[in-house]
Amino acid sequence: MLVVMRREATPTEIEAVKEKIRSLGFMPHEIPGVQRLAIGITGNRGRVSADHFLSLPGVVDAIPVSRPFKLVSREVKAEDTVVRVGRDSIGGHDLAVVAGPCSVESRSQILEVASMLKEMGVRFLRGGAFKPRSSPYSFQGLKLEGLEYLREAAEKTGLHTVTEVKDTETLPAVAAVSDILQVGARNMYNFSLLERLGELRKPVLLKRGFSATLEELLMSAEYIASKGNYDIILCERGIRTFETSTRNTLDLNAVPLTKKLSHLPIIVDPSHGTGAWDLVVPMALASIVAGADGLMIEVHPHPDEALSDGFQSLRPEKFRMLMDRLRELASFVQRGCPEEAGTVVQ
Ligand code: PEP
Ligand code: MN
Repeated sequence: MLVVMRREATPTEIEAVKEKIRSLGFMPHEIPGVQRLAIGITGNRGRVSADHFLSLPGVVDAIPVSRPFKLVSREVKAEDTVVRVGRDSIGGHDLAVVAGPCSVESRSQILEVASMLKEMGVRFLRGGAFKPRSSPYSFQGLKLEGLEYLREAAEKTGLHTVTEVKDTETLPAVAAVSDILQVGARNMYNFSLLERLGELRKPVLLKRGFSATLEELLMSAEYIASKGNYDIILCERGIRTFETSTRNTLDLNAVPLTKKLSHLPIIVDPSHGTGAWDLVVPMALASIVAGADGLMIEVHPHPDEALSDGFQSLRPEKFRMLMDRLRELASFVQRGCPEEAGTVVQ
């Protein structure tokens, strides 16, 4: 249910509607928009009667939301959500690029990559410290030590950090360091983790599960939003299909379709989406043409020595070329792209 208020509704009228929602045992979510102010309701199991609200001052309408995901749907909010991180953002006019190695492997590795990426115009540094690997015998990440190196790299360069949060146990340590908390494909269905992330006020990068439908991805996002955290960035990272010649099949349909169904920003990860470094650049460019708000790209100074995902990581020179192509493409899709100096071209 969405309670739509008059544009000129007073704070007292808005508070009275929120109080009414609380008194019914539900949770109100204020959704400001350019055209209207709306208050979403969650926590109800069945239909809520519109009659509770229609007679309250300032209320224009009370409409049921037809999708199973509510707060993240376009029905509830027409304007695109822009997730702000310091002076940068994801989902606004400018394309956002998140880049870095799959895993933080050593202090020197992450410091080296971070300074190269910064110089190339990147604003968001990725690097896994707690790695959820398919095999228990694969490198599991440097854990707390990795977080410390990531923190140092961010402090030295001024880049924002993005790292994966694997479970609720390690969430406080990861949240203390990372500007954006990444939920990996393997954890998209970890609802208790999603709820905890909803209680924090930190942006979340939610990756699509290997075999998750778009509706399931959006419902996972709804778990986060339903607890009051609306700063969610979706990430298409490929799904499992019958095709075995690539690691995953990058579902670019997901980009325009998600834009239609949801107001949340969506970025694309062609590194995991293809699993092959030489497919990353073409699929990255295709993602932007499809309407993605940005990219997540694995970059490693020495991919052949990488402890995880070297086969899909770009060398810095190749990544620099991608950034150049992205700048050319940005004007075509009427977006901005960070310049090498860190300024933005309109
Ligand atoms: C990653 O970003 O390194 C990662 C493990 O991604 P995913 O969860 O999409 O497999
Ligand atoms: Mn990886």
